[in-house]
Amino acid sequence: MPITGLCISCEPSKLPLFPYGAAGSNNKSPKFRDPKSNKRFEIPNPKLDPQHSKTVQLQQGLESCSNIDELRQYHSQIIRLGLSEDNDAMGRVIKFCAISRNGDLSYALKVFDKMPHPDTFIYNTIFRGYVQFQLAKECIDLYLQMLQSCVSPNKFSFPPVIRACTFDNAIHEGKQVHAQILKFGYSSDGFSQNNLIYMYVSFKSLDEARKVFDKMPHPDVVSWTTLISGYSQLGYIDDARKVFDLMPEKNPATCNAMIAAYVQSNHFHEAFMLFDEMRSNHIKLDKFVAASMLSACTGLGALKQGEWIHDNIKKSGIEIDPKLATTIIDMYCKCGSLEKAFETFNGLPSKGVSSWNSMIGGFAMHGKGEAAIDLFKKMENESVPPDYITFVNLLSACAHSGLVKEGQYYFLYMVKVHGISPGMEHYGCMVDLLGRAGMLDEAMKLIKDMPMNPDVGVMGALLGACKIHGNIELGEKIGKKVIELEPHNSGRYILLANIYAAAAKWEEVANVRKLMNDRGVKKAPGFSLIEMGGSVNEFIAGGRDHPESKDIYAKVNQMLESIKFIGYKPDSDSLLQEITEEEMENPLFYHSEKLAIAFGLLKAKPGEILRITKNLRVCKDCHEASKLISKFFRQEIIVRDRSRFHHFKEGVCSCNDYW
Ligand code: ZN
Ligand code: ZN
Repeated sequence: MPITGLCISCEPSKLPLFPYGAAGSNNKSPKFRDPKSNKRFEIPNPKLDPQHSKTVQLQQGLESCSNIDELRQYHSQIIRLGLSEDNDAMGRVIKFCAISRNGDLSYALKVFDKMPHPDTFIYNTIFRGYVQFQLAKECIDLYLQMLQSCVSPNKFSFPPVIRACTFDNAIHEGKQVHAQILKFGYSSDGFSQNNLIYMYVSFKSLDEARKVFDKMPHPDVVSWTTLISGYSQLGYIDDARKVFDLMPEKNPATCNAMIAAYVQSNHFHEAFMLFDEMRSNHIKLDKFVAASMLSACTGLGALKQGEWIHDNIKKSGIEIDPKLATTIIDMYCKCGSLEKAFETFNGLPSKGVSSWNSMIGGFAMHGKGEAAIDLFKKMENESVPPDYITFVNLLSACAHSGLVKEGQYYFLYMVKVHGISPGMEHYGCMVDLLGRAGMLDEAMKLIKDMPMNPDVGVMGALLGACKIHGNIELGEKIGKKVIELEPHNSGRYILLANIYAAAAKWEEVANVRKLMNDRGVKKAPGFSLIEMGGSVNEFIAGGRDHPESKDIYAKVNQMLESIKFIGYKPDSDSLLQEITEEEMENPLFYHSEKLAIAFGLLKAKPGEILRITKNLRVCKDCHEASKLISKFFRQEIIVRDRSRFHHFKEGVCSCNDYW
């Protein structure tokens, strides 16, 4: 997460440009005493000095320069005035070139090289220019050159140099700069200290970061939030919270740092708890907190809470900018309410490309390929140019709906009409599309023709297709490759084991499991979440932590017995899907998803849809059972798994068993 507020571009311009003080109103030059000699001397009166008025004009011109060509003109006039070695005049030229948006760093460096005695301001400006272009080594080298030239750094010198050290992970140099800050007497400068905290966090030296923080007499919002996100980024969420709790006064910015830390580390419940705390302390909702909370709802699949946050956004009068709009649409899509997402999308006064993309992506994950294509056409009609992501989502929509012809068409269209060359993700979608449709040869050919090496996503898509179509030979070959590409992803081993299992090659199944064990690969524990009555309930496979687990297990048994009457046969090749090694004693009847459905059946009001979020891919057995449950109990169920949505209704799934 980018650390906000560490602005390194606020050094005020040096004033005045030339040593003319404020002029008196009369035309006589003011007289002063030289403090050393006690002799009177005269300060030239600008109104009497034609060169001065010229330089003032130039100064004003330089300030209002808008591009490098204009700047060059002013620069040549300054040279003509004989000021080519004047630090003040040239400092302004360098400032425009090095750090303004329309500048030119190489021009600044040329001017800089001609300066006989550049001052601290000029050095600082070049540091900032280097940092803007991430030229870390150049920045650090120039800092050394500055010290060697006996020019003292000031408090504006350190932040860019510290930044440069973080870019390059230059730990040794970073520590030296830290020492210099102390040596030059800037140990109480908050700006430099905040940058040091950020630097040590980026070096993963939390102890050092903490030492700097603890020595600050008055840590500000930036210091607190930098340290909080530092702890959470490095996985110490509890320590982050401890720091947060130490904060004497909390505001939306600091609360958001902690909420965002929770969301990013998947501690969604904690995010909600803190949000409640924040509200009871009457801390105002701002758009950043709103966005973090929407992400928490998305993570939990908590539609009701998401709607509530959305209402709060409207009530608080927070402006829904394109970024927030995208977050809202994304929340509705991922919490299973495509209708609400579309309503929000249609209600946007202006739609940025990211809003279109997330809506097309929403249709894709819900298996509504045609709707995604229609929306794409509308986007083109409204002259919104599609980008790389648009086509990733569009092709994924085709893949999830089995629209082979359309997918192939848009894969070419993207290049021909919009000049976007296909990247890894586009190839991944196409291999997925062709593979699912059983066109394994075409998928293989596409992979061969790729200009880059296929990544594990592309190969994984092919492996999935081999599983669906029972191609053991190819599946074995690809499966082994994929495992070597991602040796710690348990899902890859399980897919290969399942391919063997489908062919009844039990010895090979055992070998894959052994390999997994030998390498210490742990299966991600499967869990499912269901939101009921405004609170989110979590179930893990075979888990009995839920207070109503006795009733829930009884309901699972009754539920599965009932659907046997309409053809349910437990599927054994999925045994490896969700149960971890320790959980082998739990039969697949107690997969987290079935527990969540049973709980939903116990609690749902008539007509209420069960909305379940699952961290793994839905297994074949749960998929089959869910279809039959939707029929037997006349209960609509929407399950979001790792890659898409399944709407179970009246015995069929929206994915047409194509997932
Ligand atoms: Zn299952
Ligand atoms: Zn399905």
